[in-house]
Amino acid sequence: SKPIIALVGRPNVGKSTLFNRLTKTRDAIVADFPGLTRDRQYGTGKVGSSEYIVVDTGGLSGEDLGVDSLMAGQVQQAIAESHGIFFLVDGRAGITPADEAIANYIRGFGKPVQVLVNKTEGCNLAVLTAEFYALGLGEPIGISSAHGDNVAEAVDELIERM
Ligand code: GDP
Ligand code: MG
Repeated sequence: SKPIIALVGRPNVGKSTLFNRLTKTRDAIVADFPGLTRDRQYGTGKVGSSEYIVVDTGGLSGEDLGVDSLMAGQVQQAIAESHGIFFLVDGRAGITPADEAIANYIRGFGKPVQVLVNKTEGCNLAVLTAEFYALGLGEPIGISSAHGDNVAEAVDELIERM
């Protein structure tokens, strides 16, 4: 059966844009509106000879338990049923306390995680990704969900560890 990849990260980092690129569909709702995607979304895709299932999630703000508890339910479920996690962060915004909270949360699952520093098109990858080593989840990869930069490499890297 195909490996399942969960897309996790705070709202507006580009999870749904990546979902669309990985599945080449418009199933996920992409918007400037944080937290709009409330339901899990599933799609299938293929990079090289690797086929996979990808699960989009609405996102964790990592800021408070009240607002996040519903989201935590579906994110928790998506992670539990996955074989590996793409943890998206925003390279232009830099590391945030919410990113750190989410890192600690997903670390607890003990699943393979690849940190993806998104929105890096036209930027110096080494500079933008460096600070995200501090999340303690290994070597971050700079990508652009919108343009596709490094997305296939990121899939290969994660699938290799699943
Ligand atoms: P989600 O809330 O994590 O699902 O984020 P979305 O996929 O809805 O994207 C949030 C915003 O970020 C939208 O305005 C996207 O167009 C924008 N965005 C997503 N990926 C990229 C990217 O690679 N580069 C840039 N510059 N913007 C992006
Ligand atoms: Mg979304």
